[in-house]
Amino acid sequence: MARILLVDDSASARALLGARLREKGHTVDEAAHAADAAEMALGSPPDAVVTDLFMPGISGLQLCRLLRAEPATAHVPVVLLTASDDRRSRFWARNAGATAYVTKTEIDRLTQVLGDLTSSPMTRPPPTQNPQVVTRGNVQERLSQLLDASLFESTIAGEVRALSQKAEELEQLFADLAALASDVAGYRWLALATDAVAAPHVVHKTRLFIHTHPDLRDAAEREARDALEVPPPPERRKPAEGDAHVITDKRAVEAEWSTPPILLPIRFGTTSIGQVAIAPSRRGASHDDRRLIAILASELGGPLRMAALVAEARRLASTDTLTGLLNRRAFVERIDKARAASDKQLFPISVLLLDVDHFKKVNDTLGHDAGDAVLQGVARTLTSIARKSDFVARWGGEEFVLALTMTAEAGARVAAERVRRAIADSKYVLPSGAEHRATASVGLASAEGPDWQLDDLLGRADKAMYSAKHRGRNRVETA
Ligand code: GH3
Ligand code: MG
Ligand code: MG
Repeated sequence: MARILLVDDSASARALLGARLREKGHTVDEAAHAADAAEMALGSPPDAVVTDLFMPGISGLQLCRLLRAEPATAHVPVVLLTASDDRRSRFWARNAGATAYVTKTEIDRLTQVLGDLTSSPMTRPPPTQNPQVVTRGNVQERLSQLLDASLFESTIAGEVRALSQKAEELEQLFADLAALASDVAGYRWLALATDAVAAPHVVHKTRLFIHTHPDLRDAAEREARDALEVPPPPERRKPAEGDAHVITDKRAVEAEWSTPPILLPIRFGTTSIGQVAIAPSRRGASHDDRRLIAILASELGGPLRMAALVAEARRLASTDTLTGLLNRRAFVERIDKARAASDKQLFPISVLLLDVDHFKKVNDTLGHDAGDAVLQGVARTLTSIARKSDFVARWGGEEFVLALTMTAEAGARVAAERVRRAIADSKYVLPSGAEHRATASVGLASAEGPDWQLDDLLGRADKAMYSAKHRGRNRVETA
């Protein structure tokens, strides 16, 4: 039969329960104080602990937490005796890691629970190398350490969760995370990789964020890519133009020393959405580092998902669904933003308004799907020809607009002709498999100086586009 440690500050309760348990054939050791019980259990772990919840000094819940935290007793089942049907006690009992809780008056249920717990063979961990000698003095100390640790952990967890309220962009989220992590831990680098997502029009590639010391930048990126299995982009021009977002910070990061990184998946619900990795400092990973990374990994799912949803909602709100180009509203917004960010005196701009020629005929003769495929093809051609600083949008129907920033009329004429030719030279593959050719008429308008209005500019480009139509289509006209 089983050896049971019975803990209750009431001598009569111990006598009553002890007798019943011995009747069932169990060996029962008794303790009147949780501190004594902790010493006894740690010195010679019993098969089960049955403890009163409310006791002067150390409570049953605290005893339970302590036994759970110590390797020697982590596996010992703990049954908490609650006064009555007290919901809050039950909540905390579960929270403290109790195996079961039984109302004090239900002695039959207690013997049954104990029978079940002690009859099944327990999976005991191998004995620890250096079992802790816990004296009455350091039971209190261990308890307050545990309390501090759990307060620290729940504070960090709260801070990580709160990141989603401040940080809507992934870059910002990671910067805030790194600031938090480096406040509480030393490491060579901290890295976050988001899982790749494939969606229509946009493929979100794996994104990699690294926080490290400026001197370790390249080594950290290499190690992080290795650990998180994020290969470098194939055609890499200069190291600085990589796809990884590296924050360097002289503060919390320690010097180079090879200790293997700790790696944990980030989940949202049951879906993996990324990974977080930390490369410990030269001392190697401490217990605290491991706890920290575990908290980061378990709490980051929400904020990361939130940032991805916000980014996706923004993308959808600014994107034309058929072509994946900017929509009209987003186009106007981006130009306003680019203009505000530049020196207004020095912001020459040209806009090309394009209208596909005889497009109605495509729909009428080949079907609407074929028309859609041509529009998608034209969008691809425009995207491939645009510079990074240009803005391409679907203006509506079969009309597209291309804004060439920092480009005055002379340069824009050349660009417009190139665009016209690219559209005419492209082959558009239809859903039927057939290839189709298309042309577009292009209206060009330019502005310089501080006072131009986008509406006015687009109005002039529109007029020019109509004159291109009247003069025979597949041509560029300048306003
Ligand atoms: P023009 O050379 O004078 O521009 O002649 P057009 O036939 O291109 O001009 P029109 O404005 O008469 O026709 C435009 C057509 O584009 C009519 C409309 O049904 C079609 N259209 C607009 N949006 C879409 C779309 O999203 N998909 C498809 N397939 N057709 C569209
Ligand atoms: Mg039209
Ligand atoms: Mg047209």
